Amino acid sequence: MHRSFRILTALLCTSLLAPSAHAAGLKVSLTERSQWRSPLTSPQSFDVASRAEIAVFTEVLADSDASTEVEGNAASVAKWKERMHKVLVENFAKARETCATGALFCEGSVPKDWETLVATSRMGLAKLPADLAPWYAEQKPFYQGYLYELVRLAGLFPKTTSEILPLSPSERFGLELPDRSFLLTFDDGPTSPTPKGGTDAVTAMVRAEGIHAAFFLLGNNYETRRKATSVEQLRALYAGMCVGSHGQEHRSHATWAGAVAGMESFHAKLAETLPEGQSKLTLFRPPYGQRNPEILQALERAGMKNILWNIDSQDWHASTTGPKAAGRVLSLMLLWRHGTILFHDIHPKALEALPRIWRDTRGSGVSWVDCHDE
Ligand SMILES: [Zn+2]
Repeated sequence: MHRSFRILTALLCTSLLAPSAHAAGLKVSLTERSQWRSPLTSPQSFDVASRAEIAVFTEVLADSDASTEVEGNAASVAKWKERMHKVLVENFAKARETCATGALFCEGSVPKDWETLVATSRMGLAKLPADLAPWYAEQKPFYQGYLYELVRLAGLFPKTTSEILPLSPSERFGLELPDRSFLLTFDDGPTSPTPKGGTDAVTAMVRAEGIHAAFFLLGNNYETRRKATSVEQLRALYAGMCVGSHGQEHRSHATWAGAVAGMESFHAKLAETLPEGQSKLTLFRPPYGQRNPEILQALERAGMKNILWNIDSQDWHASTTGPKAAGRVLSLMLLWRHGTILFHDIHPKALEALPRIWRDTRGSGVSWVDCHDE
């Protein structure tokens, strides 16, 4: 990456840190997932890896259930855990559909409830072949840190809203997509046209892969870019992609009094520069996932949807490298099996992470959802 782009990125990183995460100086949980040696080149091999990832996270979550210590809102944490138990049982059943005799985590009948899934996971992990010990040693601490991230968000909810739980059944997180289907999304752009990089590089790379991803633009960045770029150039920049809104300013839409007015004036401008193939502005994502009922009502009036996410690359964080963003996203794709993946086109890490994610899941049955179908 160009040096001045890196400096710009560093400045943006500082200003765009999630306020709560920033204040707490929180670490994010990362893994390169470098120790799983079988490539995910078939649906069967994706499912073996998926069962293994689900088993480790299930073990970590079950161990945490045994602890009575809960920080923050215990009712929200309990509600979130109940939802996750159900999702994990469903996911594991999906991952068992391709079980061959003697394959990993295929013993016994398919678990129908959380307790059976915990027992099956513990039993499978106890019988793990010796060559998978390095994989387990890499992934277990990753999931312990990942669980901490999620439980922390659940404990803050609903005082601080986020992607952890819905405020309304109309909101989308990605788990409503079919099994093995993923939507790619990018926040905080557009970047300025010089030096080349950022939005220009990400959209070109995604387009070359034949994927239609959703970009959630920030009003302030849009206005800066619009001064340097004609309407035609802006349309060409996002050709084949979906343009959505991330609000006028990068601040919590749960507490900012000007949020709705900012959305309305930005959306009117954005609607005039939509790329070919997109007739209306329908997708919205609030900064940090923070919103309130008033924001949801404004979206409903405008015929727009709130698009959150369930797979966070954490690519904004200083400690996240391209390989670690890729390893984290691949792990979570195997764990959650479907969903909406969050990257940022203002950070360069997606440019390194995505080629590995695409390469490693080719032939695995994974499909990339067309954002126009959202
Ligand atoms: Zn953002």
